[in-house]
Amino acid sequence: MDLKSKIREIQDFPQKGINFKDITPLLLDHEAFRYALQQMIHHFKNRKIDVIASAESRGFIIGSVLAYELKAGFVPLRKPGKLPYKTINQEFEKEYGKDSFEMHEDAIKPGDNVLIVDDVLATGGTAKAAANLVEKLGGRIASFVFLVELGFLKGREKISGYEIFSLMNFDK
Ligand code: AMP
Repeated sequence: MDLKSKIREIQDFPQKGINFKDITPLLLDHEAFRYALQQMIHHFKNRKIDVIASAESRGFIIGSVLAYELKAGFVPLRKPGKLPYKTINQEFEKEYGKDSFEMHEDAIKPGDNVLIVDDVLATGGTAKAAANLVEKLGGRIASFVFLVELGFLKGREKISGYEIFSLMNFDK
């Protein structure tokens, strides 16, 4: 299936110079959405995955399905001030600006095998921040999983040394 045709490109969103990859047409097409999720599930179904950690908010759409299918726990990475219990925090740079994520301090146990899931790998700042949070709590990163990788932004280099599974790669 041609998944790339289900990604809508929006120029200059949310700011000038950004070619935004809108995944909502893919989500709306149930055959394409199922196909994309099945590719991910198939890739990891024989691996021991304890926890799926996903970035707010588009990462949740994919991450929760993977947690259900792979029989893993789900850990949300959220913007500051959203999680109710004690948290650990990590700042990072995005393709368009600074941001930070929080995770509950008891979300991951030492030695847990963790899949880090997001919709898009752009500059890799988000992914690296997620990795830092997981590793601060003693988790082991089994792999990163993305629907879309923006190869030209070289986010892969920020998380080199880790396994990376992405379904689509864009070169602009
Ligand atoms: P980064 O930290 O630069 O890898 O950015 C990744 C995060 O920002 C992901 O959670 C994406 O949802 C979002 N993002 C960054 N750049 C884009 C883009 N060009 N199109 C769509 N989403 C993007």
